[in-house]
Amino acid sequence: MKYDPQIEEHVAHRNFNLCPHCIHRGEPGLLSRLCESMPMISRSDGKTFHVLLADRPLAYPQERHSDAPDCVSLCFWYCHIATGSTTHALVVILPQARLDQPVLFRVIDSVADLLAAELLRTNHLASLYQFSGNALRSLAH
Ligand SMILES: [Zn+2]
Repeated sequence: MKYDPQIEEHVAHRNFNLCPHCIHRGEPGLLSRLCESMPMISRSDGKTFHVLLADRPLAYPQERHSDAPDCVSLCFWYCHIATGSTTHALVVILPQARLDQPVLFRVIDSVADLLAAELLRTNHLASLYQFSGNALRSLAH
């Protein structure tokens, strides 16, 4: 998956609190998260899916070794009409990223765009991805 500026035209709804896809399905639409004190990062096409950043970015791995590279892990939740109202979780690893990076949330916005593009195309996501070079790569687990 590579970044494609046209994604923004198809994924009309960005960073909302009330989900147009859930409201379209007759559900309340208020998206809850594990951490409410961070910016809302969410995407939807208004009908078939939503995807959102579920928790604050975390250092990865959690147990630090002196020679371990800096990584950040992101937990996203998504819901697609292909699987009813089930919420699925996935993790995206950002290599060479730091939690105190000023542009971190801009990077997360790009990741959300790519996840939304993938949901538009395939209806589902893998459970683990790595983001580098503006592309998402699914990792075997
Ligand atoms: Zn929704």
